[in-house]
Amino acid sequence: MNDFRCPKCNDHLRVGDNLIFKVKNSRKQSGLLLLSPQIGNYSSIKHPSFEFKNGEILEFFCPICGSSLKSGIHQNLAMVWMVNDTGRSSDVYFSQVAGEESTYATHGDSVHAAGADAGRYTYFKIGDKFKKYI
Ligand SMILES: [Zn+2]
Repeated sequence: MNDFRCPKCNDHLRVGDNLIFKVKNSRKQSGLLLLSPQIGNYSSIKHPSFEFKNGEILEFFCPICGSSLKSGIHQNLAMVWMVNDTGRSSDVYFSQVAGEESTYATHGDSVHAAGADAGRYTYFKIGDKFKKYI
């Protein structure tokens, strides 16, 4: 079972089969958003009163410490830590744009890209090696 942690407070974002995030929409309304811990699974759960449209840029926050999870490499991408059963950790980048399916799990020299829109962020840099693997 992959574990997911906030890169700011190192606390757990996974509860059962959900990753729990605090999310703000473009009207600065906040809600909780539950995502799948499976890379490449883009199903999500939210309360129906919290609304956003496909293509809307959301902001993801740690629900525990409140820190923004926006990555340093692109404003549309958030980043969390993933730790697998063997203790191997990866930085997982994912799109904060509603409906956009772009996920990148990076570990050392390797990058695993997933999602129908993964090609959208091939121009940003994690490093030269990252570009090579996408
Ligand atoms: Zn945190």
